[in-house]
Amino acid sequence: MNILLLGSGGREHALAWRLSQSSLLANGGKLFAAPGNPGIGEHADLISLDAGDHDAVLAFCEEYQIGFVVVGPEAPLVDGLGDALRGAGVPVFGPNKDAAQLEGSKGFTKDLCARANIPTAGYQRVTSLEQALSVLDQFGAPVVVKADGLAAGKGVTVAMTMDEAQDAVRDIFAGRFGDAEAVIEEFMEGEEASFFALTDGATIVPFASAQDHKRVGDGDTGPNTGGMGAYSPASVLTAKLQAEVMTRIIAPTVKTLADEGMAYSGVLFAGLMLTREGPKLIEYNARFGDPECQVMLSRLTSDLGELLFACATDRLGSIPAPQFSDDTALTVVMAADGYPGTPKKGGTIEGIEAAQANGAKVFHAGTAMADGALVAAGGRVLNVTARGANVTAAQAAAYAAVDAIKAPELFCRRDIGWREVAREAE
Ligand code: AMP
Repeated sequence: MNILLLGSGGREHALAWRLSQSSLLANGGKLFAAPGNPGIGEHADLISLDAGDHDAVLAFCEEYQIGFVVVGPEAPLVDGLGDALRGAGVPVFGPNKDAAQLEGSKGFTKDLCARANIPTAGYQRVTSLEQALSVLDQFGAPVVVKADGLAAGKGVTVAMTMDEAQDAVRDIFAGRFGDAEAVIEEFMEGEEASFFALTDGATIVPFASAQDHKRVGDGDTGPNTGGMGAYSPASVLTAKLQAEVMTRIIAPTVKTLADEGMAYSGVLFAGLMLTREGPKLIEYNARFGDPECQVMLSRLTSDLGELLFACATDRLGSIPAPQFSDDTALTVVMAADGYPGTPKKGGTIEGIEAAQANGAKVFHAGTAMADGALVAAGGRVLNVTARGANVTAAQAAAYAAVDAIKAPELFCRRDIGWREVAREAE
């Protein structure tokens, strides 16, 4: 069959790499990607297609006999592209619009947690500034304030003081994030980890765990970003904790959505806080994490296409569970100077082959070709990924690869994996 992959980041480069090896493409099947990037172009035919234009996507699927669509980012799912494709009989990896509210609306997820008795921070939804200020008084600091909608990770304030919390709700109700609705949450203390599960709406299989680094600077300092690096697995999420997450968080989510007529199909990405009382849900995402996807797929030994297609066609229960190598994968994000503010475009990039000489893999995110040369064209530019027997070894291999890249206008953190490296040294 022919497959269409939507997206253009490092996550989609990893998806394209693994999909290009899938048995789904046996017998001359083709992989297309829209819009893709130069790295994705090594595995797929790049096409120009606006994922927001559902009619154009459907027309492309018909013309090119696309038998399966894989949606990388969240925006097209929240926007209902899954419904449009399913409505036209095209299997798609990713939930319908109603179930994608798990990512699109923090209030939706919190209400679902309340209905299904899923462990998460106590919360209240607020719809006006007066109400928000009075709820903040009840909660007291520290407290967490979240704009209710897709804010690309920028709508969350973990406020240590009342002043910060009040400023955050004033920002939201001044319309800084579009719709003025917010969720005020109890502050949870603990270590964060990410857990991924695949589901077709009925069967659920655990996929993998990972930890990422959101802050731009070493030692987890500076502003938040989309993610500066990640590793998988996350040893803090032990087999016992993963089982608890499956039973107490993932399974009731999938069951409640199905019971309420919003069956969820795709990957459930749970952001977790490992608190003293056990794992609690921070938030859900309706797609793979970026850069978590790059490290998880580096360890995946199963056929990715088969797994994703089984989610899309309600056959997850009849294929083998995902298998992974038992080593660690770690990725370092190289970002353009200025990120996460205004990233500088056009910085030259050389040495990718040298970086990959010892088995590392360099995923492209914001790259472009200019006059035959590879240049930076976005905030996060490259994801330099390596494997090792443990995090310490994977980290050393990843930074050896980073050091082989000549890109004077890119920077990276030098401490990705520090928590685990410290634990491994104990
Ligand atoms: P979210 O977009 O909901 O994942 O929030 C972004 C980040 O804010 C999370 O990764 C956490 O570091 C932090 N955060 C969110 N909610 C809470 C909470 N209730 N308690 C403590 N930290 C939180």
